[in-house]
Amino acid sequence: MPELPEVEAWRRALDGPVRAFPIERAGPAHVATLKTFDPPLSALEGRQFAGADRRAKRLLFPTDDGELVVLVHLMTAGRLRYLRPGEKGPKTPALRLRFTDGAELVLTEAGSKKRAGVWLLTPEAAEAELSHLGPEAIGLGSERFAGILQAESRRLHSLLRDQRLIAGIGRAWANEILHQAKLSPFALSTELSPEQVERLARAIDEELSRGLEMRERGAKDAQVYRVHDRLGEPCPVCGTPIARVDYEEHTIYYCPTCQTGGRVLKDRRLSRLLR
Ligand SMILES: [Zn+2]
Repeated sequence: MPELPEVEAWRRALDGPVRAFPIERAGPAHVATLKTFDPPLSALEGRQFAGADRRAKRLLFPTDDGELVVLVHLMTAGRLRYLRPGEKGPKTPALRLRFTDGAELVLTEAGSKKRAGVWLLTPEAAEAELSHLGPEAIGLGSERFAGILQAESRRLHSLLRDQRLIAGIGRAWANEILHQAKLSPFALSTELSPEQVERLARAIDEELSRGLEMRERGAKDAQVYRVHDRLGEPCPVCGTPIARVDYEEHTIYYCPTCQTGGRVLKDRRLSRLLR
């Protein structure tokens, strides 16, 4: 699933193009993709976007009259593409917005399951829709982060992915961040030393910034991720084969030497059954 670095890279790429011309035609949209019906999508026609914004893993396109916001959540397989005038695109995208110069913004989704969502909202409704989200993960600062870690005792991998606490990190970047911080994915948030808190806060910024910089250059998953989805490959720091453990419907990747003092983590669900 695209996370903060991926979505922010798309935002930066779309910001200029989407505000260049007014919208001529909005739609059609797939019935499962468009989550709102009032106002209708056609309310966008004749209006112009002010640009592209982002909150957590969502993209926002506010109109320059301040009246409407298009909110897009791409989930796992959704992709937004800007097609220059005359450029060939998909025949039946999940959403199509056509600009007056002939360019188009299209949302496509691989596979038959439609999970990506588009909402057309007033700015107030958009704010309410996003109100459950915690502060943005990038630039959070170690003091504020320490408060989040102390608020309740949580396993680090699970805490980093909780959008109500910190917004923008999913399972891939949680793996990368914890590896960079040399911390166990199962370590408890309230049991970290001040030095470990500092290290983890720094790793969040470093890793998300590295990801953003690489995604802006068009880097693919295989170049960007150093431990995520790399079972059995040598750790880029120490050479130990990367290990994997299942936890809370997620697969976690980690280095046993760098992160868990050589211990191999047990699948939590399975060990509970065998106890
Ligand atoms: Zn290692």
